[in-house]
Order: sequence, then C-alpha cells, then structure tokens
Amino acid sequence: MRYISTNNSKHNVDLKTAVLAGMPMEGGLYMPENLARLDAAFFKGLSGLSFQEVALSLASPFLSEDVPAGELVDIVENSMNFDIKLKRIDTYLSVLETFHGPTMAFKDFGARFMAQLMAYLIRGEDRELCILVATSGDTGSAVASGFLGVPGIRVVILYPSGKVSPSQEKQLTTQGGNITALEVEGSFDDCQRMVKSAFADDDLRSKMNISSANSINIARLLPQSFYYAWATGQLIDFEQDKVFSVPCGNFGNLTAGLMAKRMGIPIKHFIAATNSNAVFPKYLSTGQFKAKPSQHTMSNAMDVGNPSNLARINYLYGDDVGNIQHDVSSWSFNDKVSRSMIAAMFSEYNYTVDPHTAVGLLGMRAYHQQIAAETMQGVVVATAHPAKFPEHVEPIIGRSIEIPEQLQQYLNREKHSIQMSTSYEEFREYLLDN
Ligand SMILES: *Cc1c(COP(=O)(O)O)cnc(C)c1O
Repeated sequence: MRYISTNNSKHNVDLKTAVLAGMPMEGGLYMPENLARLDAAFFKGLSGLSFQEVALSLASPFLSEDVPAGELVDIVENSMNFDIKLKRIDTYLSVLETFHGPTMAFKDFGARFMAQLMAYLIRGEDRELCILVATSGDTGSAVASGFLGVPGIRVVILYPSGKVSPSQEKQLTTQGGNITALEVEGSFDDCQRMVKSAFADDDLRSKMNISSANSINIARLLPQSFYYAWATGQLIDFEQDKVFSVPCGNFGNLTAGLMAKRMGIPIKHFIAATNSNAVFPKYLSTGQFKAKPSQHTMSNAMDVGNPSNLARINYLYGDDVGNIQHDVSSWSFNDKVSRSMIAAMFSEYNYTVDPHTAVGLLGMRAYHQQIAAETMQGVVVATAHPAKFPEHVEPIIGRSIEIPEQLQQYLNREKHSIQMSTSYEEFREYLLDN
C-alpha cells in the first residue's frame, strides 16, 4: 500500500516513509491510497472475532505488503494487549470503554501500535531512532508508556512545567529506561516550537535520526479504527442502525471511525461531539471553516480550535460538506451541560463518566432526540477513565472515585525530569550530548 498526501495525490510514499516522516514535507497528511471494502467472509464472522482478530483483519490491507504476516501478528499482540469493554447502559445505548490501557485513555491504542510498528520498520538500522514529542498532557503519557522498552528507539518528551496535571506529570516523568522527560520553563507552544526547530535543523538531522509521534501520524490513526469494527460486531445481532458518538478534539478518533465505515463496517451514522471549541459543528452548518484560538474547558484534551484531521475528513468526502453531513452530525456542549450529564449518568445508571465522555453522551442524546431511539443502537466512545479527572468528577457525583491500579502505580513513583529553558540551542545541545 502506498500512502498519499491529502494535498496532492501524486505525492505518494511507502509505509516506512509515511510512518517515520509523520507528515509530508510540503503539508497535508498521509492517507492510505485506497480504503477497500473488507471481504464478505470477514463480515460474516465479525461477531465471533476477538478484538485482536478484528485488529489483524483491519490492519492487513494497509500493512501486509510491508510487514510479513508473522510480524504483524506480533505487532498486534504486543500492542493491543489490554481490555476493551462494551457496556450496555440502556436499550438503545452502550458505552465503548477504550480506557483500560496503561494510561487509561483511548490514546493507548494509537501510541502502542505505532511504537511496535516503528520498532519493526527500523529493525536492522544501526542508528538509534529518537522520537521527539511536545505534549500538554495525555499524548505524552500514552507515547511514553507505548514506547517504554521498545528496542532501537528512545523518546524525549517536552512538557510545560506546572501546566500538566499532577497525575499526568507522574506518567510522563516516572517511566525511566528509554524515556526522558524535559520539563520546559515555558508553555506548550514553546515545547512545540522547540520540536519543530529540531525537525527544521538539517545539521542536527544529519547527526541524529529523529522522528515524531504526534497525533497526525497514520500509524496512530489506523489502530483506532479497530474498536469501531469490534464494537459493531458485538452489536451485529441487533437489527437497528449502529450509531457512534465520538468526543472530538483533533478529530483523529472520528476519522478512524469514518475509515472503518468506508471499509464496509456497517455503521449508519456518526456524531462528532465537541466541547465549547465548536469549529466543526459550525463548519458543518455553514460550509465555511474558520479556525479559532482554543478555549480552555473541563474536557481539556478536546480544547482544539484548528483540528488537524479535518484535512483527512475533507479528503474522505471529496471536500463536500454535504457529503460529510450525510454521515456525520455535530453539536457543541459547554462545561455546564457536561456537568449535568455526569450527574445524570451517575444518578440514573450508577455509571461514572469523565468530562470527555460526557460530551459524547450529550451528542448521542441530541441525536436521539431527532431520531427515534428504538431505531438505533447508539455507542458512545468513552475516551478516558473518570479517575483521571477526580477534581472535576468527584464534586459532581459527591463521592470519591477509586483509583485503578494502572494509575496508582505511577502516583507512587518518583518524578525524574530534566529542567530546560525555552532556548532551542539548549535543547539541541542536550540532544547531541545524550
Ligand atoms: C485526545 C482525546 C480526545 C480527542 O480525540 P481526537 O482524536 O483528538 O479527536 C478526547 N478525549 C480524550 C480523553 C482524549 O485524550
């Protein structure tokens, strides 16, 4: 499979280039050259397949020319090695818990798969690969955990000092091994600028093999399509339409769902639920896209004013908003209604959700107010475990949330970070000396 740029379908590269470069030099994002329907036999057996079997079937068309079958099995088994649960909450409503991985957010799927795939792609090379990541929280922790102990790769994470939550900081700074955390005396934008400068520094790049692991990497997107297929399989015996509501920020998760649909997974419709950062619902309703500065909300991993994966969605739908509307509805919800949703889920169903998942639930509710509930099986993608956001959730439900083992083990460890100014020169020297 070749990978083409959303800006220019004549620009096409192989898997290794797409994954290691992250994005095309001249802009745009990589997409697989074709998204063919999976074959009929796959759909017949879907409901009986394990998660890993579904993962293998969906990954194969994209990777099998470049990755031998046995290696692909290893990549899937070494990355998709944690639980996923579909919980039925009501007759028309289920919650897809994608947060049972090591960092308790769906980003574990993408980060772990990308780590294993990169390790395979660089095997045999004599120079170590150094992954640079700027993070404002969740991405860095998933990447740190995903790459821990992966041979041939080291990871350098830059995070803004004092601007990530205490539990996120522990997850970034306590891994050790091949993971180093740089604590930058500045903002997330400073961190991102330092990483960008490194990629633009030809002299540095001639001395070191660097790559990025940010959310636009196609290797992070693909594995997120697996759970849409698996969850649909679990509900296949219901004749009603399958509808997914996705809490969106950079829209990678939604894009992965749209790709699964394109491959033939029988999903009727998607709901793109955003917090007050409402650029996508505005785009769908007006046909005009206007990026905005991001606004801070309680569902902070969705605070995005210029979603990068919009380029992929436009590409999938031929830049036609009408086509997108056919498959996607979108609404925006503020913190106030999100808080009421957290409260309602707890009182009605004794089920605790995090602020991001609450936005997804609100999206599902808005949709089924338009469409009779008995015609659908709705699935809300639950993107993070509520124990990651006790400061928001506990006051609403009026009790404390038990901290799962995965999170607790980080909290007990000691922080190790290297202090750094916002100077690119200092960062550069650090990279070359270590
Ligand atoms: C990253 C994140 C999102 C947003 O996902 P996108 O793929 O960027 O749209 C939603 N919820 C949580 C908990 C996240 O960490």
